[in-house]
Amino acid sequence: MQGEPEVAVLRYGHRPGRDDRMTTHVGLTARALGADRAILPGNASQSEETVADITDRFGGPFEVESTEELPATVRDWEGVVVHLTMYGEPVQDVIGDVQDARESDPLLVVVGGEKVPGEVYEEADWNVAVTNQPHSEVAGLAVFLDSLFEGRELSQEYEDARSRVIPQECGKRVEELE
Ligand code: SAM
Repeated sequence: MQGEPEVAVLRYGHRPGRDDRMTTHVGLTARALGADRAILPGNASQSEETVADITDRFGGPFEVESTEELPATVRDWEGVVVHLTMYGEPVQDVIGDVQDARESDPLLVVVGGEKVPGEVYEEADWNVAVTNQPHSEVAGLAVFLDSLFEGRELSQEYEDARSRVIPQECGKRVEELE
């Protein structure tokens, strides 16, 4: 969120075709729920393009980029690393410590795909579970970011938008700004 240390989301792994929508939704959820940047695997270029298009239309600031270096992105991160996994510590138990750490340091949130290698568990400062039940990287990311920002992200303003949704009790209204 603007004026705060960076929160970046790394999508760790992508199976082209099968994971296209899920990887796109990781990026869109990161943007909508207060993260500053999404880092997607290099083989997810369609998802990268979609997230960039949405940012162009509905505003930012939000960056999306790709990397061929997933392990190095985690290993070399200068800040704190949270890895979301059903096997981790309950989010409600550790979120206070994560909030304290990111007051001064950028935070990398790692969400997996099919399989996350063991070194990510070891390199993470926290392995965090949003319940210890299996579900989805998109759901896990959304709940984690909402816990991190304590709901402040729900009312964030977007800059340089070309379109803006005007909330309606019923129906759809989109204002075109240019
Ligand atoms: N066995 C995996 C795990 O470690 O959570 C589930 C794989 S799931 C198909 C893909 C990703 O969803 C995981 O890598 C993790 O980032 C996220 N995920 C699934 N369930 C989660 C949970 N209960 N808490 C946090 N993240 C979860």
